Amino acid sequence: MANKTKELFLKTADVIIENKNYLTELDAAIGDGDHGVNLARGFKKLKDKLENGSFESRSEVFKLTAMTLISNVGGASGPLYGTAFLNISKVIADSRLDLEDLVEISEEAIAGIQKRGRAEAGEKTMLDTLIPASESLKESRDNNLDLDTALKNCLQAAAAGMENTIEMQATKGRASYLGERSIGHQDPGATSSYLIIETFIKNSL
Ligand code: ADP
Ligand code: MG
Ligand code: MG
Repeated sequence: MANKTKELFLKTADVIIENKNYLTELDAAIGDGDHGVNLARGFKKLKDKLENGSFESRSEVFKLTAMTLISNVGGASGPLYGTAFLNISKVIADSRLDLEDLVEISEEAIAGIQKRGRAEAGEKTMLDTLIPASESLKESRDNNLDLDTALKNCLQAAAAGMENTIEMQATKGRASYLGERSIGHQDPGATSSYLIIETFIKNSL
């Protein structure tokens, strides 16, 4: 599984690097215009480390990702994503993942972000993509949906969550300094979270 996970993160890095300007433009509207630059810096470093390393388990790849993002992404998003991936590294199994595993992984990621950032749903952050995605997985599990349908629903929930940040007023992070003027813009972190989830789902984590 380690190699598949390595490939997945190489893909994720490419997606983030491809979207560097887009994410930075979103952040320029309501923040300090560095979200794409911050993440691309961290994911570029991660690519180097992944390409030059060999790994024994999924968990090891998640841990390396976490550490690399924590120390190379400047800004709020680095430690938040880093903590999310670190928490996942502590629970992720090396066998095939079922829906129950995905629910656990998503909850661990969110718990890490909330422990560090103290934000709730509706504050116009990455959590507004991640929480609906996780809730959707839980609902699919409770309704015994098959994995493919569950992942399709999850991606839709993540997209809707990201788009819903447009109408929100930011009350956490740099965008909160704008008060009501933060309304009308899509949150950059919610957008990068969507891109990560989309890559994970399309390439089957
Ligand atoms: P900075 O704001 O330090 O320049 P980035 O631009 O890299 O950092 O990241 C900004 C993104 O981080 C925001 O769009 C938001 O989604 C996310 N964010 C900021 N603060 C928090 C928080 N407390 N909890 C969750 N996400 C947050
Ligand atoms: Mg910023
Ligand atoms: Mg910054």
